[in-house]
Amino acid sequence: MKDILHNKDFTCVAVSKTKPIKEIQKIYDLGHRDFGENKVQELEHKYHNLPKDINWHMIGHLQTNKVKKVVPIVSLIHSIDSIKLLKIVNKESKKINKVTNCLIQINISQENTKYGFDTNEIDFINKSFLKEYENIKIRGLMGMASFSNEENIVKSEFENLNKIYNNVKNSIDDIEILSMGMSNDYKLALEAGSNMVRIGSKIFGARNYQ
Ligand SMILES: *Cc1c(COP(=O)(O)O)cnc(C)c1O
Repeated sequence: MKDILHNKDFTCVAVSKTKPIKEIQKIYDLGHRDFGENKVQELEHKYHNLPKDINWHMIGHLQTNKVKKVVPIVSLIHSIDSIKLLKIVNKESKKINKVTNCLIQINISQENTKYGFDTNEIDFINKSFLKEYENIKIRGLMGMASFSNEENIVKSEFENLNKIYNNVKNSIDDIEILSMGMSNDYKLALEAGSNMVRIGSKIFGARNYQ
């Protein structure tokens, strides 16, 4: 676990969803500052009950009516999965004079249960479009591979996202984050070019519920 938390090569978001404050505090005390949550209410609770120098990452699907609560406390939203959401994050950020860091979530898996833009829907990520949204900064892309034991499938999905990432990076400034890889597949993700992994169970132990 220490080799994931303390390294210079990539950022590890410790996914603390469902885990109590005191378990998060333990990882914080090891020097870790990046934590990820997927539910707004839980994120708010933890934000208010843990040290203020934590970088909170919103990694789950974000409902538009909850954006207002997330924007003031979040350091990076990984899960921008619609233009509508992007517009609302911009609007709520503007209200509090903040520029919110965001990743565009891309659906790289064959499973239709996953959120995110299809790989053929992302032409909107271009300079002239983003110029209209002064209160968001697109910092990169996020994706989740299929839940599959077949390494070849997972690997090719990650490689596909890395290819898309490099194209976007070449055309837009400030793009530098590729968020892919979880407890079971982060090694494949890092091999495929990830520089931010989201690790839950490998750090905190198994969860009883999602
Ligand atoms: C829960 C979750 C993770 C972490 O999952 P683990 O398998 O426990 O590492 C990563 N990313 C997202 C979006 C999640 O919801």
